[in-house]
Amino acid sequence: MSMISIRSLTKTFGTVIAVDNACIEIRANEFFAVLGPSGCGKTTLLRMLAGFEIPTHGQILIDNHDVSEMPPNLRPVNMVFQSYAVFPHMTVLDNVRYGLKVTGVAAKEARQRAEETLEMVQLSGFGSRKPEQLSGGQRQRVALARALVKRPKVLLLDEPMSALDAKLREQMQLELARLQEDVGITFVIVTHDQDEALSMADRIAVMNDGKVEQIATPEELYESPASRFVADFIGKVNLLDGHVVGAGTNTVTVDVAHLGQVSIPHQGHASGTVSLAVRPEKIRMDSHKPDSALRMNGRIVDWAYYGDSSHIFVQPEDGPRMSVTIQNETRTTIENADRGDHVWLSWQPGDTLILDR
Ligand code: ATP
Repeated sequence: MSMISIRSLTKTFGTVIAVDNACIEIRANEFFAVLGPSGCGKTTLLRMLAGFEIPTHGQILIDNHDVSEMPPNLRPVNMVFQSYAVFPHMTVLDNVRYGLKVTGVAAKEARQRAEETLEMVQLSGFGSRKPEQLSGGQRQRVALARALVKRPKVLLLDEPMSALDAKLREQMQLELARLQEDVGITFVIVTHDQDEALSMADRIAVMNDGKVEQIATPEELYESPASRFVADFIGKVNLLDGHVVGAGTNTVTVDVAHLGQVSIPHQGHASGTVSLAVRPEKIRMDSHKPDSALRMNGRIVDWAYYGDSSHIFVQPEDGPRMSVTIQNETRTTIENADRGDHVWLSWQPGDTLILDR
C-alpha cells in the first residue's frame, strides 16, 4: 500500500507550470528520490507534500488521508531544509527537544526521546554543545534529529547535503541510507545530484520541465532509461541519430549515419527517427579493426585519467564525438594509445538502447 499517493498534481505560478500532472505512488518505508536539473519543479513538488504550497490541481494522500489543503503543522510529515535549520543559541539537546516541548510533550518524555534520537544519529554525548561547536556534518545530523524526534510518518529532505564538501557528503549519504533503514520512516529526498539519488534511493522519479519522465529503481534508470533525457541525465551516454528501416521479432533495424544499417535487440514498438544510446563503459577501444557490426574509427582528442579508470573522447571523421570509459587495470589492447592516435571503437548490439527522439 502507498504511504504517499500523488495524483495528477499540478502547480502553476502565473504562466509557469512548475509541476505538470505528476502521478507518483511512494510506498511505506521507501527511500524515494526526486531527481532533476535546476528549475524542473522538484522543490515545488516537495513543498506541496509539506503543505507550504497548495496544488493548483490534483490531490495528495498521505497514509490514505487527503492532505492536499491541510496546513503543514497538521500533516504527518517533517522537513529537513538545505540550510540545516538549527537554533544557534540553544544546545544540541535543546534544539532536538524544542519541537516536542512546543507541542506539549512532558519534559521528562521530551528529554528521553531527544536523547534516543541523538543516539540514532550518532550524536550521544554531544547534547550540551552549541551548534557552533560542531562540524558541518554533525550540524546536519542535529537538523535530522530535530525532524525525526517528532516521529513523522514521512521525512522530506530538500537537498540535505548541498552545504557539505564532497567527502563528507559521501559519508552522510551512507549514514542517511542506514538511518532510514533503522527508523523505518518513508524518506522523500529532492536532489539534482544523480550520484546522491542513485546511491541512496530505492526508487527515483526523474523530472524534466515540470513533468515526471520516469519512475524506477537506480538500476532500471541506468540500464533501461525511458527517454533520451533520462539516458543523458543518469550517467554518461553516447547518442547516435538514426531511422528505423525494418522490424523483426524482438529486433529493429536502424539506418545510422557512420554505421550503416544495424540490427538491434528491442522489445516494443520503434519507428521513425530514433536515437541509439550506448554507455561509455560498453565501448571497446582497439588499434585494429574489430569484427563487429557496430564499429567506427576516429582520433583520440582527449584523455582524462581518474586512477582506476580513464575517460577518453574519440572524434570520428564525420560523426558525433564519442566518449569511452576504460578500466586502467584491464587496459591491454590499447596499451600505448595517446591523444592524436587513430583507434577503432566497437560495442555489442545488446548493449545498445533505442530511444525515441
Ligand atoms: P532548483 O534545483 O534550482 O531548486 P527545482 O527543480 O527545485 O530547482 P522549483 O524551485 O520547483 O525547481 O521551480 C520550478 C519552476 O517554478 C521554476 O521555473 C521556478 O522559477 C518556478 N517557481 C518556483 N517557485 C515560484 C514562485 N513562488 N513564483 C513564481 N515561480 C516560481
